[in-house]
Amino acid sequence: MLYQSTRDSAVKVSAAQAITQGISRDGGLFVPECIPALTAEELQNLVGANYIQRATCVLGKFLTDFTADEVAECARLAYGDRFRSPEVAPLHKLEDGAYVLELWHGPTCAFKDMALQILPHLMRVSAGKTSDGKEIVILVATSGDTGKAALEGFRDAANTKIMVFYPENGVSAMQKLQMATQEGNNVQVFAIRGNFDDAQSGVKAIFTNPEIGALLAENGKMFSSANSINWGRLVPQIVYYVSAYCDLLKTGAIRMGDPINVSVPTGNFGDILAAYYAKQMGVPIGKLICASNRNRVLTDFIRTGTYDRNRAFYTTTSPSMDILISSNLERLLYDLCGRDDAQVRAMMTSLATDGKYTVPAEVKAQVESLFAASCCDDEQTAATIREVFEKYGYLCDTHTACGVFAYEEYRRETGDNTPTVIASTANPYKFPASVLDALCEDDAEDEFAKAEHLHDKTATEIPAPLSGLRGKTPRFTEVCDKTEMRQVVLNALGITE
Ligand SMILES: *Cc1c(COP(=O)(O)O)cnc(C)c1O
Repeated sequence: MLYQSTRDSAVKVSAAQAITQGISRDGGLFVPECIPALTAEELQNLVGANYIQRATCVLGKFLTDFTADEVAECARLAYGDRFRSPEVAPLHKLEDGAYVLELWHGPTCAFKDMALQILPHLMRVSAGKTSDGKEIVILVATSGDTGKAALEGFRDAANTKIMVFYPENGVSAMQKLQMATQEGNNVQVFAIRGNFDDAQSGVKAIFTNPEIGALLAENGKMFSSANSINWGRLVPQIVYYVSAYCDLLKTGAIRMGDPINVSVPTGNFGDILAAYYAKQMGVPIGKLICASNRNRVLTDFIRTGTYDRNRAFYTTTSPSMDILISSNLERLLYDLCGRDDAQVRAMMTSLATDGKYTVPAEVKAQVESLFAASCCDDEQTAATIREVFEKYGYLCDTHTACGVFAYEEYRRETGDNTPTVIASTANPYKFPASVLDALCEDDAEDEFAKAEHLHDKTATEIPAPLSGLRGKTPRFTEVCDKTEMRQVVLNALGITE
């Protein structure tokens, strides 16, 4: 199976090439030429399988230039013992018909670990096939969670360096501390004066700049990406939707072939796109419910067919969804436009120049039939956290709360009672201040005191990777301007122009 660029269908590369390169030189994203099928029989066989086996099956269908042993080895190294739950991605039942898919049992307590624990292994195998010994330099733009998960995944990986850029005032105190204290000999972390979109645009500009690419090549290095623009990030995310369906079968909550809906807290459109791919593979998924916070650019797009980023950017209590340019939407558009690269190019050019585009009527109709959309502000997020805790005794984080809110609103408005999997994207202790403030008044001063009080109030466990941050001295404190990113990268690599 080969991969095409969304901006030039003539570009065709292997999975290994797509993963090492990260993004196509034309600025497009790599997508598989066709989506492989997962038959009901194969799905049935996965019901009794563990997460590693489920991952091996799904990944193998996409990474056809990997050997079966290579795929299995990557899955084993990633999901063997790095997760605090033996099921890796367990389902928690709120009530009949509503299930929370906990994706945060990995080392950094957010769902990004699901992909970033395996990406370094996929990258190593891919580089062995394609990069002729060049050192790989991973550049990451993060709205808070990707950065830490990528650092943790790639720390001390052979022949690899990783640099992370995060918005100085756009992440939670816990997220900042997680990144600033990162250990490892090949890691660097920078805050930028700007928001996530600035960081992402800056990183994309560096990647696709031929001059910088040539400079790196002269120095025996090449760039790659650990953001969800990299196909190697998306494919592991398909696995947990397959896994959730298998677990619902296993517990008897559904029977083979029964549809389920999914509700996904969304930012860069990676997580929900993975659910779309799972549906295309044959997992009986009905509606894809796209949940946003006050930055409701996707809600408006799904409801109107116009994507318009010309609007105020809000900093919210769910910072990992504070995004106005959702990169992975480009992959969906490519699919829905019948893989017409010219149409995608035109829309992306319009986005770059005017900050907006409108999809053709037939694409809008498909978007409407596949997706539902909903958004909530910080107050509704807090109210949802409180209600879920009072009603079910279940503590969820601010992002997950947006997913619960969207699920409830969708059900209320449509009467559709299909069993629904709500993606839970972070552990509540990543955002202890916002979560505690949602439950009660509290005058604790710092994040750790908030976490302690949250623990006292809810009798839930503070994950060790978070409580262990207390008292650690930050290693990385540099702040740079968004216009300086190129220079910062070259300096860090010891390359002079
Ligand atoms: C990254 C992130 C999201 C958004 O996921 P996308 O794949 O970017 O849509 C939601 N919640 C949390 C906690 C995240 O870290």
